[in-house]
Amino acid sequence: GWDLRGLLRKNQLLIATILSVPLGIGLGIAVRDYGDLSQLGKFYLGFPGEILMRMLKLIILPLIVSSIITGVASLESEVSGRIGLRAIVYYFTTTVIAVVLGIILVIAIKPGGSVNAGDIGRFGTPQNMSMVDAMLDLIRNMFPENLVQACFQQYKTKREEIVPTLGVMNTTTVLSLSPTTSPQGDSSRDYQITGSYLDGINILGLIVFCLVFGSVIGKMGERGRPLLDFFDTLNEATMRVVQIIMCYMPIGILFLIAAKIISVDDWSIFTKLGLYMVTVLSGLAIHALLVLPLLYLVVVRKNPYAFAWGMAQALLTALMISSSSATLPVTFQCVEENNRVDKRITRFMLPVGATINMDGTALYEAVAAIFIAQLNNYPLAIGQIITISITATAASIGAAGVPNAGLVTMVIVLTAVGLPANDVTLIIAVDWLLDRFRTVINVLGDAYGAGIVEKLSKAELVRRTSSLSAADPEH
Ligand code: ASP
Repeated sequence: GWDLRGLLRKNQLLIATILSVPLGIGLGIAVRDYGDLSQLGKFYLGFPGEILMRMLKLIILPLIVSSIITGVASLESEVSGRIGLRAIVYYFTTTVIAVVLGIILVIAIKPGGSVNAGDIGRFGTPQNMSMVDAMLDLIRNMFPENLVQACFQQYKTKREEIVPTLGVMNTTTVLSLSPTTSPQGDSSRDYQITGSYLDGINILGLIVFCLVFGSVIGKMGERGRPLLDFFDTLNEATMRVVQIIMCYMPIGILFLIAAKIISVDDWSIFTKLGLYMVTVLSGLAIHALLVLPLLYLVVVRKNPYAFAWGMAQALLTALMISSSSATLPVTFQCVEENNRVDKRITRFMLPVGATINMDGTALYEAVAAIFIAQLNNYPLAIGQIITISITATAASIGAAGVPNAGLVTMVIVLTAVGLPANDVTLIIAVDWLLDRFRTVINVLGDAYGAGIVEKLSKAELVRRTSSLSAADPEH
């Protein structure tokens, strides 16, 4: 029968998290209208939320290291290579679909035709970033020269120089800026805008190292066993800590959202940029509700919306914290525990996906670039539209899974087609909202990817009954 109490208990955390959203909004609105209280609130109300963010980020390092190493090591290298190839094909295909979808919508809706750029307001002058420099930085990051340093790189934040007003938008999360690694470096370029840094962790570099290290351990057979056991235990312990952190999540989210509500003072910009936002949001909705589910249905032949519902806690988290990397621990919980995707797949696909697979960001970058062209009455030839689709894909790969990262890598797209990089500031005011939604789609894309690649790899996964204890205990 229909067991409401059981259902409630099982979804307790999810329900608490959902409830914390209106409560947080209510608290924010209440505090906002109380003169002195609201001044105080601006500084302190977000504190419990900041603690949540710190805990989520704290767990990322042991989580990605232990999960990638054990995930790869528990598969034969030839098998993991084939699965890895499928993952890359999935990432690439869905990202390109998202970009094309965005381009079609923005050309059809033409949001830039209805507003005047002067009404929105430009600020400062961001630095240009050439495509070549951005690519070299991305590749350089894949090879950290010091493994310890890769975990806590100290770097100057120069984001104000790239997009000056970003500084006021988000003071807790540093964008993916860091010094270029060359010690003799030329100081005119001692920062970078790509590279998937998360508050000082060179995630991309660690991922590359762990993929190689894990597959080497796997090849060593019995000799590699102690290391495999070590990382396997580390992974399990980490996931238990994640469960503790998740209990705190509703409280953290309540205060995060309350603090956000009091910090926004200019709501009128939302009407001015309304059509642009509608374009981005409808693109994201089509991708999340039709494109990805259809792909899942065709390949896996199970209910895609049941799968999406299993992801609810992670999607809500992404919506609240705008960071796919910081959402990763929750994504793991949902994909493994609710949707029961094989851990040998999730362990390497989810960290990699959170870092390079960003359908939402890619769609957003394409829409935003063409929107800016429309604002400038800047006609785009078909060749330039193709350039936008290529650079938007690249910029989404290069963006870190942190808040507003997509806005920063936008500079590459704009520069590539000769639009003023400065114009990225036209859309800054609404980015905190769009960022949340594209992060949701980024996370959802990673999750569906794990399900789809698992299905495509069934044969290999069955043939190799892993000796890894935690690989698949439930089945
Ligand atoms: N905030 C997004 C993410 O973490 C990246 C972006 O800014 O588009 O996935």
